[in-house]
Amino acid sequence: VIPYKDGAWQTGEVKPYGPLSLDPSASSLHYGQSIFEGFKAFSQPDGSVKTFRSEQNAERFNRSAARMAMPAIPPELFLKAADALINLDKGWVPKNVGESLYLRPLMIATDPFLGVRPATEYLFVLFASPAGAYFPSGVKPVNVWISEDFVRAAPGGTGEAKCAGNYAASLVAQAQALEKGCDQVVWLDAVHREFVEEMGGMNLFFVYKEGDKTTVVTPELTGTLLPGITRLSLLQLARDLGFAAEERKLSVQQWRDDIAAGRMTEVFACGTAAVITPVGKAKANGFEMTINNGENGPVTMALREALLAIQHGTAADKHGWMRTI
Ligand code: PMP
Repeated sequence: VIPYKDGAWQTGEVKPYGPLSLDPSASSLHYGQSIFEGFKAFSQPDGSVKTFRSEQNAERFNRSAARMAMPAIPPELFLKAADALINLDKGWVPKNVGESLYLRPLMIATDPFLGVRPATEYLFVLFASPAGAYFPSGVKPVNVWISEDFVRAAPGGTGEAKCAGNYAASLVAQAQALEKGCDQVVWLDAVHREFVEEMGGMNLFFVYKEGDKTTVVTPELTGTLLPGITRLSLLQLARDLGFAAEERKLSVQQWRDDIAAGRMTEVFACGTAAVITPVGKAKANGFEMTINNGENGPVTMALREALLAIQHGTAADKHGWMRTI
């Protein structure tokens, strides 16, 4: 826990997990100055512990802070907080493949002040929780609901930031997805209600096969979707595996046409929590499409294996993504 006041970060302390004490007029509770991150630490074959691209999480945290008129935290302090916690007991980091220690940094405004203005006092909190395998009984495709009723983020809004309000605004759409028999919601762009953006907590990839050529496509960063760190890593890993990788716009109509024509062979979602999840079915009002017969696809699974191998230290970390605690 590291407090911020008088324009500076104060001395932090490690505390047992427990409730925070907040003033009822703390401005984060009313006006939503609240940002967070999520990253993982993995146990390595030699017994050491490494985090995956945590420097990127520190950078994204500060971009979220800037958008929410909150102070930046020096990246070394952000990383030191994680390291201090893990170093208390490395036994918290699970050792099995597929398991990890999930780290959740959070910053909230704590000013007891009811006027609407950026707060002057904040709390940075970082806590950890062991994370089991996301698919304990094997990877299984999810069904997704393409939301035409709600949008997650509009141009000029906070869509690119990892701020609490984005998630609050997505809850009704997520509930609608569940009602429609789907696991997750797919968001479309707010202006045209046409182009695919991302999912509730994951970015999307589309796999194309033409002859011998495999191309993975992910929606380009428009300012209204979260620039996922898994997304960024998979663009690189896809090229490493000999696939072409592109960031571009993709409309729902194009998605339907490419599935119908057999050009698009797989769809998957990616993010820190689930790593890679195949998409088996996509539904919306009035249509439904089945992808790869509702089964796990080879490109999806190859990318998943490649990423997990780097994270668990069974493949070389060519790009310097792992940081030793
Ligand atoms: N989009 C949203 C809205 C998310 O919450 C997340 C999870 N952080 C992602 C995408 C995936 O990002 P990352 O790969 O950095 O976990």
